[in-house]
Amino acid sequence: MSFSELGLAPELLRAIADEGYTEPTPIQKQAIPLVLEGRDLLAAAQTGTGKTAAFTLPILQKLITVTNGAPGPRVLVLVPTRELAAQVAESVRTYGKHLKLRTAVIFGGVGINPQIDLLRRGVEIVVATPGRLLDHLQQRTVNLSNVETLVLDEADRMLDMGFIRDIRRVIQVLPKKRQNLLFSATFNPEIRGLAESLLHNPATVDVAPRNTAAELVTQRVHPVDKSRKTGLLAHLVKEGDWKQVLVFTRTKHGANRLAEQLARHGITTAAIHGNKSQNARTKSLADFKAGKVRVLVATDIAARGIDIDQLPHVVNHELPNVPEDYVHRIGRTGRAGTSGEAISLVSSDERQELKDIQRLLRKEIPSSMVPGFEPGSQPTAEETARHAAMKLPDSAPQRPQRPNPPRHGFGRGGNGRPSRDAERLAGKSRKVH
Ligand code: AMP
Repeated sequence: MSFSELGLAPELLRAIADEGYTEPTPIQKQAIPLVLEGRDLLAAAQTGTGKTAAFTLPILQKLITVTNGAPGPRVLVLVPTRELAAQVAESVRTYGKHLKLRTAVIFGGVGINPQIDLLRRGVEIVVATPGRLLDHLQQRTVNLSNVETLVLDEADRMLDMGFIRDIRRVIQVLPKKRQNLLFSATFNPEIRGLAESLLHNPATVDVAPRNTAAELVTQRVHPVDKSRKTGLLAHLVKEGDWKQVLVFTRTKHGANRLAEQLARHGITTAAIHGNKSQNARTKSLADFKAGKVRVLVATDIAARGIDIDQLPHVVNHELPNVPEDYVHRIGRTGRAGTSGEAISLVSSDERQELKDIQRLLRKEIPSSMVPGFEPGSQPTAEETARHAAMKLPDSAPQRPQRPNPPRHGFGRGGNGRPSRDAERLAGKSRKVH
């Protein structure tokens, strides 16, 4: 099936061709006709499946073909994070570049006045995080009474981040008659509750993530002592001559510390997390995309929705607490059909996390030691000297050498039944009512 068979306008087809897309992804094939028909939609889809275009393309088509002359905004897209807001807005601009439509992207952490000016001049589409949108509603600088289509993107994340009340307050000011599209990577009772109260006779779309961990992303675990993770990372970046690496840490503090340590290894590094200003985050991301910075260290929330084409390497400096976050993280590489590599540096205290991840994936991640960095082995003279010079907590004394370091990592995860998420990851169909 081609994009033209989906009945999209020539301006949209040109923009799609400009992007080099030849064929719609499964979610696009399923969702675009349903949205064009005017159906409400409940879609199970993760980042990397092409979900943004799946809702953006039919929405743009409807904006240019159906109009009642009322002032905008006519479309409201709610997203959990600033980064995702910026990226969805960029997608809207990309796919709508041959159309005369105006988009406002609304999020906190930046000045409100430029947003007010933009809204006052008139826009058809608003892409917003809930908190700042509520500020505008309170100040009456946005009028949502003509919204025809509401999109909740990454609804599970919005609920995780505690936005449910904000979302409900926004929904209250929307017209009762409207089209609703809800996208979520996971479905729990809270999401189902939201869907039930929001959606009217929804069509359901459920696609396996395109970049299922198993297919496009080569995954590897390197067992290593906690105190030597940074040394190993620096070694991998240098030895592999990696030019663009996204590294995940669990905490903001950990992200800063790692960035500083890598910089001392002579590796250009930036960190993005919730304590950085929006401008700093945007700049770091731009530098990383432009190749000025080799390593970008990020926390899970900050990295949410980062869209970098052909990102070759993702490293888990620490495994996430929540196994689903592992899938989100490695989904940053191997996107849109390119292959990527995801490496996890796993210390012995992270065995449970690794087990949980492997259970979710329903497979064992291949594990190999990096020579010189085997758990229990001694740091090199250079590392010792560097640690001594840095006087950083990482330079904690080594644990005594183990008699028999494990040869193949931490073994197979779990013996329980696969979780529902694992079933979805494996592409099994599932009802999402
Ligand atoms: P998303 O799931 O919306 O975050 O999209 C993931 C990536 O896939 C983005 O980099 C898009 O530019 C890309 N993409 C979306 N649709 C297609 C398509 N039909 N063919 C190839 N790449 C696509």
